[in-house]
Amino acid sequence: MSETLEKEMFSFQTEVGQLLEIVAGSLYSNREVFLRELVSNASDACDKLRYAALTETGLASADDLAVTLEIDSTSKTLSIADNGVGMNHADLLETLGTIAKSGTGAFIEALKAEEKDRLGLIGQFGVGFYSAFMVASKVDVVTRKAGEVEAWLWSSDGKGAFSIEPTVRETNGTTVTLHLKADAKEFAEEARVKHIIKTYSEHISFPIKLGDETL
Ligand code: ADP
Ligand code: MG
Repeated sequence: MSETLEKEMFSFQTEVGQLLEIVAGSLYSNREVFLRELVSNASDACDKLRYAALTETGLASADDLAVTLEIDSTSKTLSIADNGVGMNHADLLETLGTIAKSGTGAFIEALKAEEKDRLGLIGQFGVGFYSAFMVASKVDVVTRKAGEVEAWLWSSDGKGAFSIEPTVRETNGTTVTLHLKADAKEFAEEARVKHIIKTYSEHISFPIKLGDETL
């Protein structure tokens, strides 16, 4: 194994730092869209695994793909989990910390191009994974790539840096846990979460589970 077994610290790419400052500091009234973004990522991960399972040998079957939400109303956390393709160490470095992906890049370009209403731009582009920091003071991502045994914990408070360290996950997939900000505790309420899912995630083709229910 070439990877270190210790906790590593990384700085966000400058543009991501700028983006996070805007995202985390904004009093965007539609910030509930963070859940649409995270569920959409979980669904994409399931899609990728389904495709991989069809095209590659040696991968587990892609049956029972689902997105599972979990609320801890005592510690005020909300988790969005999937049993999709997952990420390895290299994937994490490539995706969560940079703006390699198209959507955020376009967002940054728009920000630079016009000193326009910044909150309007969040709504227009969606800021994907980073929208988690609209509601969370800390985000933990536990992930294991399909076909690999190592699992990783990516963690950040969105203030310029993130860490990656080895962890354990029984199966492939990703769990994103949001430690909700003091003014975002409503997202640890079941009724609120259900309503957001109904509003934004009806089109998702995998089951979205919360407790015993499929939403
Ligand atoms: P986009 O979905 O438009 O690519 P995001 O900011 O939402 O942008 O996500 C960035 C990238 O992080 C994704 O493209 C994907 O590679 C990775 N990612 C995010 N969430 C997950 C997840 N649940 N499972 C696997 N990969 C993920
Ligand atoms: Mg996305």
